[in-house]
Amino acid sequence: MTVTVRFAPSPTGRIHIGNARTALFNWLFAMKNGGRFVQRFDDTDIARSKQEYADAILYDLHWLGIFPDATEIQSRRFGRYDEVTEWMKAAGLLYACYETQEELELRRKIRLSRKLPPVYGREALKLTPEEREALEAEGRKPHWRFLLPNFKHDPFDTERTEIHWNDLVRGEETVDLASLSDPVLVREDGTYLYTLPSVVDDIDMGITHIIRGDDHVTNTGVQIALFRALGAEAPIFGHHNMLTTSGGEGLSKRTGALSISGLRESGIEPMAVASLAVLIGSSENVAAMPSMSELASHFDPAATSKSASKFDPDELIVLNRTLLHKMPFEQAQDRLSALGVSGDQAEAFWLAVRGNLDKLADAAGWWRIVRQGPEQTDELSEQDAEFVREALELLPEEPWDRETWKSWTNAVKEATGRKGKALFMPLRLALTGLASGPELADLLPLLGREGTLARRP
Ligand code: GLU
Repeated sequence: MTVTVRFAPSPTGRIHIGNARTALFNWLFAMKNGGRFVQRFDDTDIARSKQEYADAILYDLHWLGIFPDATEIQSRRFGRYDEVTEWMKAAGLLYACYETQEELELRRKIRLSRKLPPVYGREALKLTPEEREALEAEGRKPHWRFLLPNFKHDPFDTERTEIHWNDLVRGEETVDLASLSDPVLVREDGTYLYTLPSVVDDIDMGITHIIRGDDHVTNTGVQIALFRALGAEAPIFGHHNMLTTSGGEGLSKRTGALSISGLRESGIEPMAVASLAVLIGSSENVAAMPSMSELASHFDPAATSKSASKFDPDELIVLNRTLLHKMPFEQAQDRLSALGVSGDQAEAFWLAVRGNLDKLADAAGWWRIVRQGPEQTDELSEQDAEFVREALELLPEEPWDRETWKSWTNAVKEATGRKGKALFMPLRLALTGLASGPELADLLPLLGREGTLARRP
């Protein structure tokens, strides 16, 4: 069977680096197993879900390098969920309940005081048709619970019923269905909670592996029971740990913390985000992976920590620099061109400046310096300005290459007696307007003799 995974966010906000972790775990898993990646939008909460968020999520995924094989939208599948619901009701797998939250809370307290586990006691199963009618006549609407298969003959006589799964990340996991309340699958107003649509989709879409955050571990027992109740074999599950801020707080789509769009806008490279999102909390050192295939070769869900990983955004800057410092011109070319960096010199320019960039867009500033001259030129003392003028007299004739800087500064050293910083710093300031930056040996041929002389202070 073809490995098929899905990434199933609700389109209720922009995705953040924690969501990207889930998406990337799925993508890399599919990549390593020659599988398919289904993008599923869990938009059954019509009020909070928005098309613009779904579009933005797809945009963010593409930017990260994830290209789904198919896109599915739950709100187009209500008919199917209704069909399954009716079948479950008819099969006695879904039963109507009428309790209010307050009534449930009161019962829970009573059970606790009697030292009974605080699970739902299935009282609604005892209602006669007349009692149900009376409740409905009062204006109550039923919500519907899935009767968990945790008993032999009598649902009021539950017995330990273990569900096991071998988690891709966490290893052997066991849940006792008798320790759980029958989950509500359909609310009073007829809307679906996440469980039923998710399981129905996983079955219909041939999902073989469910890889998601460990905030869903507690749902897995119920979901496996539901897969079986619907006559399907449960997929393989993998629950990765969650990312938190360095302060230990969870990330939320709503607060916009560390959103992928925000990171993109601040100039972080997609592979810096992907490398950190995947490798954090793994047995691998977090290093900048230049491509998805390279990241895939370092990806191992089984080697992921089981406790939450703290995420430090400053690490992204470090990874970003590393990626830029090694980025081939072909990869940067289009974006450079959009910044106005193009033409014969573009490649040599890129190779000269990439080692000095925090963000790719910073190349534009260096391009201006190379093409138009330094932005500020008032840093030089009169004495240094005189020295620079003297040095410019000694500029060799063209053609120039990487060696020109050395031969020129050797000649200047000999003629003026200056050396070290006293020699180089005034030249750097005169040529670039800045006290630090790319190697002057690389910049000099880009300026050319004419451009260099034009910087005469
Ligand atoms: N819509 C669910 C979520 O975003 C999907 C969970 C799952 O992957 O099963 O949490």
